[in-house]
Amino acid sequence: MRIFTVPEAPESALSIIEQRLSENLTGFLGESIVAVEKPLSSIEQDFLTHEIPQLPSFVSDYADEMMQKLVAHSVHTASPSFIGHMTSALPYFVLPLSKMMVGLNQNLVKIETSKAFTPLERQVIGMMHHLIYGQSASFYEQLMHSANHALGAFCSGGTVANISALWIARNKLLQPDGEFTGIEKQGLHRALRHYGYDDLAILVSERGHYSLGKTADLLGIGRDQIIQVPTDADNKVDVTLMRQYAQKLAAKNIKVMAIVGVAGTTETGSIDPLPELAALAQEIDCHFHVDAAWGGATLLSSKYRALLKGIELADSVTIDAHKQMYVPMGAGMVIFKDPSSASAIEHHAEYILRRGSKDLGSQTLEGSRPGMAMLVHACMKIIGRDGYEILINNSIEKARYFADHIKQQPDFELVTNPELCLLTYRYVPIAVRNAMDIARERGDTELLARFNTLLDGLTKFIQKRQRENGKSFVSRTRITPERDFKQRIVVLRVVLANPLTTREILHDIIAEQRQLAEQNIRYLPPLLELASSVATPQAC
Ligand SMILES: *Cc1c(COP(=O)(O)O)cnc(C)c1O
Repeated sequence: MRIFTVPEAPESALSIIEQRLSENLTGFLGESIVAVEKPLSSIEQDFLTHEIPQLPSFVSDYADEMMQKLVAHSVHTASPSFIGHMTSALPYFVLPLSKMMVGLNQNLVKIETSKAFTPLERQVIGMMHHLIYGQSASFYEQLMHSANHALGAFCSGGTVANISALWIARNKLLQPDGEFTGIEKQGLHRALRHYGYDDLAILVSERGHYSLGKTADLLGIGRDQIIQVPTDADNKVDVTLMRQYAQKLAAKNIKVMAIVGVAGTTETGSIDPLPELAALAQEIDCHFHVDAAWGGATLLSSKYRALLKGIELADSVTIDAHKQMYVPMGAGMVIFKDPSSASAIEHHAEYILRRGSKDLGSQTLEGSRPGMAMLVHACMKIIGRDGYEILINNSIEKARYFADHIKQQPDFELVTNPELCLLTYRYVPIAVRNAMDIARERGDTELLARFNTLLDGLTKFIQKRQRENGKSFVSRTRITPERDFKQRIVVLRVVLANPLTTREILHDIIAEQRQLAEQNIRYLPPLLELASSVATPQAC
């Protein structure tokens, strides 16, 4: 874990910020930074002027000002006790290397502004392709740097990666055919008329990421056509139901454009049954995309990569390097099984992106792009497969440990088990747990709902108060567990990616949550009262 601790930094005007930032990379809840939570509205006071300053100012003055206004109130995403989101700590070497990237200011849209960065990016994409699809050495030798092929596309994140993948799926489905010159030229309306479909749809789990909604909107098929299929008790999409949905759509002459499998859902970290989804996609002849934005990095662990089995059957895969690959934000990738896929969205222009050129911009949604691939390259080279093996395994095993720890607490309830390193849970006083079990046994959903409503209030209180205390942070979300008859409940959500998060920190977080809960006067007393009324039936 030494790469997550920072070597000595020199002392000079700007370098103080840099040094503090470096310290942040190993968690800056220490004394170096004021960690007192300031309400958003008072921070906004520092950013009220709408006029661009008339007079220039000294860099050092600006840096001093920002130290107070910006750095001091930034969120401690790198802290080992910040375990609420997918944004986590960075290795120390990322900061100096990113200066090199910014300084060189290469534009990946075209070779003329990125002579060496373009091959580097193609190599990064090639490595990721190999990680997923494991093709032969000669495959990569022929195709990785080929002007007429793309093994994938680098982009700003999972959202753009998902859009790119489904854009390709749409254009391949509605490709040129005889007189019809393709959707890219003639638009959705005429494309549907030509192919004789009434509409298009995308099938995905109800836990699919909201970026798919944006995608459907942008691609012109509409958000309503993202068909959300319910999940089973393990939060994995129900493939039998999905098949039934597909048949109903077919009966209505609605063509399923793509099936999207999620490998690591945002709320529960669950992995859909990818081989079954691939089989269904083949059966109904549609594109199979896997959204592994968060979970895809698990492929770097030889011990756990089997959890994602079936991913190699996907036509396209989204992976965010800025999630579990410890790269700073702005590093998303979509990888294509078929190296000629991207020709479906190819665009050419005269002054750049000429036909036959190696300009990456001809096959990407984005135009001008920074050399972020360099930081993925750096992490892969410096951390290596061996390093990632340790990091990924460590996260998964820590999550399993934390799940066991939660299960051992009589007043906490593990709501979803960690398949990878994401889990959800909540605080439930012992008496309430017992009473809820009685309610579940009786199938008394109304009583259960009364408990859940009060518990939702309590869970939100714990989460907000803990964040305000500023020692640690977990997030919260809403899910619909089977054992509570799919009632929508609020849960605490933890993502364990920071290698410096220790077991002691996890114990402390639980202890703090218990303490906060026990102090609550709004939800706890009515909860206990309701529980005692269940225990003594005459009170019901
Ligand atoms: C994070 C995430 C996305 C979106 O990625 P961004 O990088 O935030 O654009 C999409 N899908 C899943 C499953 C994710 O976890």
